[in-house]
Amino acid sequence: MSAQTPHYDSDALPTETVDVVVIGGGAAGLNGALMLARSRRSVVVIDSGTPRNAPASAMHGFIVLDGTPPPEILKRGRRQVREYGGQIVFEEVATAEPAAPSTDGDLRFAITLADGRTLTARRVLVATGLRDVLPEVPGLARHWGRNVVHCPYCHGYEVRDEPIGILATGPASVHHAWLFRQLTDDLVYFTRGTELDTDTRARFAARNIRIIETDVKEVVNDDDGTLSGVRLTDYTFVERRVLAVATQMQARTEGLDGLKLPMEDLPHNMGRRFASAVAGTTEIPGVWVAGNATDLTAQVGASAAAGALAGSHINALLATADTDAALAAAQKTTG
Ligand SMILES: Cc1cc2nc3c(=O)[nH]c(=O)nc-3n(C[C@H](O)[C@H](O)[C@H](O)COP(=O)(O)OP(=O)(O)OC[C@H]3O[C@@H](n4cnc5c(N)ncnc54)[C@H](O)[C@@H]3O)c2cc1C
Repeated sequence: MSAQTPHYDSDALPTETVDVVVIGGGAAGLNGALMLARSRRSVVVIDSGTPRNAPASAMHGFIVLDGTPPPEILKRGRRQVREYGGQIVFEEVATAEPAAPSTDGDLRFAITLADGRTLTARRVLVATGLRDVLPEVPGLARHWGRNVVHCPYCHGYEVRDEPIGILATGPASVHHAWLFRQLTDDLVYFTRGTELDTDTRARFAARNIRIIETDVKEVVNDDDGTLSGVRLTDYTFVERRVLAVATQMQARTEGLDGLKLPMEDLPHNMGRRFASAVAGTTEIPGVWVAGNATDLTAQVGASAAAGALAGSHINALLATADTDAALAAAQKTTG
């Protein structure tokens, strides 16, 4: 058990080869596991317990579940996976790599957990999510997910009409400005050394978005610790209750090097993701990827849908492999 991993519960790992190991138990991993378990596949989800939206008090923008606390969604998801025989283990994957194939030539993967336990799987679904990298502004990180936000659809409505500041990190921040302007009349754009062309400046002016080009020195709080604004490098204080930041999004790769999954950079330094094709397939036979690990802008609904699609695709390919093996065995007996 790694230091940061909450110890919800833990089961003995299967000693026999399981059909699928899912690495990551967020929306993507759990929905993949649900599809597999309901198809009577043996599936083990390994989850290190640090989902991306952990700082948020409620999940928004996904019908039926809108307003539900993220831990409650995961708790319900885990319960549903378990109801169909899926297993959830709270631990970190330390290594994952291809192993020697079975005697009938089927793929095998060896997974080692941070506590040293091991298991073998026929297929792997990577659903490890991503890490948001914030710009290095003193005092910013402590408000992340509450008064420092990145997603207008996740928590924009909750900060409507507040004095909001966009801390620019690149071209994506201009897009951010249009979306947050829809939520408040009081918007300030801190350029932080990024370029703004003449056309964008005119468009900002037309929408009453103020531009501040003096660099931001630090985030300032009220006495009770609430975010109250930013101090500029010339010591001017600009009152703001909310700061919006386009983070750099990095797919989580811990423990996965052995799978040798190809990765891709997004333009404008927006982030890095695992490359994938239809249904989350990758260039590595037997390994799928779903959710934020490959789709950096996916929200909870899209991540869950991608996990479900990958899970059903894995099941379909396993059904073909099982049939191929049965046919080969039958032909060996009769031949
Ligand atoms: C502050 C904030 C608020 C958000 N609010 C919303 C919202 O309101 N609505 C919405 O739709 N979206 C929201 N999002 C986006 C949402 O968090 C993602 O869409 C969603 O979490 C993606 O699901 P996922 O399963 O791909 O990844 P995650 O939910 O991040 O799950 C990945 C899991 O993999 C585990 N993991 C990683 N590496 C390993 C390893 N080596 N071994 C074992 N386990 C591992 C992690 O611990 C984690 O539990 C928000 C994001 C942030 C940052």
